[in-house]
Amino acid sequence: MKIYFTPGPSQLYPKVKNYIEQALKEDILSISHRSRRFEEIFFGIQTGLQKLMGIPNDFHIVFTSSGTECMERALENTTKKYSHHFINGAFSERFYQCSLELKKYPTKTEIEWGSGFYASPKLDKNIETLCLTHNETSTGVAQNMDFIYKLKKENPNMLITLDVVSSAPVVDLDFRYLDCVFFSVQKGFGLPAGLGVMVISPQAFKKSLFLQNKGINIGSYHSFPSLIKYAQKRQTPETPNVLDLYLLEKVIVDMNKVGIEKIRKETKQKAKLLYRYFDKHLGFKTFVKADRDRSQTVIVIHTGGNTTALIEKLATRGLVIGEGYGKFKQSQIRIANFPSHSIENIKLLIETLKHYEF
Ligand SMILES: *Cc1c(COP(=O)(O)O)cnc(C)c1O
Repeated sequence: MKIYFTPGPSQLYPKVKNYIEQALKEDILSISHRSRRFEEIFFGIQTGLQKLMGIPNDFHIVFTSSGTECMERALENTTKKYSHHFINGAFSERFYQCSLELKKYPTKTEIEWGSGFYASPKLDKNIETLCLTHNETSTGVAQNMDFIYKLKKENPNMLITLDVVSSAPVVDLDFRYLDCVFFSVQKGFGLPAGLGVMVISPQAFKKSLFLQNKGINIGSYHSFPSLIKYAQKRQTPETPNVLDLYLLEKVIVDMNKVGIEKIRKETKQKAKLLYRYFDKHLGFKTFVKADRDRSQTVIVIHTGGNTTALIEKLATRGLVIGEGYGKFKQSQIRIANFPSHSIENIKLLIETLKHYEF
């Protein structure tokens, strides 16, 4: 049996394999997405996620096919022309590119990869949406949330769109200062890929209606008004990934049983073990220097050119870790620390690493 520490797809949440069998027995793969059974699953996710992530009742929860799709939908539905992007890695850069490709006029505040944002930039009054990435999966930086809340307090008319793809559900969010928050399920939820989730504030929904009324293109079946119209009936506009939704409902129930506080506490403990090990090691260096910027869910390490050797050696012990992202493919490794990874898994990884000299 292998253990996947890759930052997505990753290790499945403990009982997912059983739930897939259960889904087959219950004929979930054949049910209609207009059926009562489907609506139960949808409702289970809505209420379960509200509890797990502290989502207010008046926020809408809708489904897409991926995290990347959520970037596009959020921009189409909140931004006529001007989005502003905080870029410190490959995913925040991707978000910016998305806006360019949609023919918007995005602006950006860019800092060095491996750092987080602290100082508020001067923002043009025309900006409609501020786009941020909470957890930069490419570098292992987690953005301090107070910075984001402050942006909203200082610019209440701007909408805040936040990518939490590789930090949900662990990240503790105050939705009062957020408008579009999205993730996909193959990272922190330990599920098969092919499902995105977006949480939409009343203010963001209102903006999408405003744009629609002005005759602006906000997309078709996955526009906010269409998604929300169906979500109110506990349905989706299209035939969705019903199996993944079924599994998501099960995993959310399990996570709520454990309790989000415990999940957060364990994540912190496991991250501490990993950082402590790598910080003491002579051959490895944590990419993110400042402790306050370090992600707890994706740990990125400089290997001094030993990435391939390291990955191969760990693979012989059934431990699968990620290579560096993009230009860091050969020089870094990335280790996911998601709720699916037990403390024992993390200790095993560290003990195995200790066997090798680099
Ligand atoms: C993986 C990832 C994405 C892309 O998600 P997909 O579901 O693969 O489209 C976006 N943002 C971040 C931060 C990610 O880690």
